[in-house]
Amino acid sequence: IIRVEGMHKWFGQFHVLKDLNLEVSRGERIVICGPSGSGKSTFIRCLNHLEAHQQGRIAVDGIELNADVKNIETVRREVGMVFQHFNLFPHLTVLENCVLAPIWVRKTPRKQAEADAMKYLERVKIPEQADKYPGQLSGGQQQRVAIARSLCMNPKIMLFDEPTSALDPEMIKEVLDTMIELAESGMTMLCVTHEMGFAKTVADRVIFMDGGEIVEQAPPTEFFGNPREPRTRQFLEQIL
Ligand code: ATP
Ligand code: MG
Repeated sequence: IIRVEGMHKWFGQFHVLKDLNLEVSRGERIVICGPSGSGKSTFIRCLNHLEAHQQGRIAVDGIELNADVKNIETVRREVGMVFQHFNLFPHLTVLENCVLAPIWVRKTPRKQAEADAMKYLERVKIPEQADKYPGQLSGGQQQRVAIARSLCMNPKIMLFDEPTSALDPEMIKEVLDTMIELAESGMTMLCVTHEMGFAKTVADRVIFMDGGEIVEQAPPTEFFGNPREPRTRQFLEQIL
């Protein structure tokens, strides 16, 4: 469902992503890890063209990400993204946050959009917060709203960029549980995270990035049990 071939990206003179190649199948769950500054966020942002790449190819569900604005719009509709800082609209209620894109982008009738939103808020276990404002919720609740809001667009792929790293420890689990349920539902997921427990139990494949390159990728048992590359070993020694 995702195909990246020989992809490079520069920020000015800085070569941030170097010859990335990746194929993701429908329903696959991928965890991306690596040191700070290795290009993880930039890479997944390229997958819905929040960042533009300069060389190589990216295709999502058969749609080529190139200068064609129509393609970019189509891909963005199919790809949901959840960030470290929840990026909810503070002046809108939880429900309004959830129905905004379906109504304006998908042209879903309001009644239908609200019914869908309530369904997803139930799925992330906070339907009772629908009429509150983001500032009235805990971090974990806000992040679950952000996940529900993405799901309201009925995406084929979900991208997560360190969704738990801004949360207090007691709230991490509720967000991870939501992500685990989503994974079990068959969603194609790419998650940048340092939650290695999540990687071990949920990921089909773990990707290690360093210096803008994919250094190693393997199923979690292999990745954690028998990493091949010295850089991977060094990284794992530091974090485990
Ligand atoms: P972290 O774990 O800290 O989130 P990361 O792996 O997500 O790191 P990126 O945010 O992708 O790393 O950044 C990769 C490199 O690109 C860093 O050196 C960063 O300083 C640089 N960078 C990121 N965004 C920009 C930008 N808009 N302009 C210039 N350089 C940037
Ligand atoms: Mg990052």
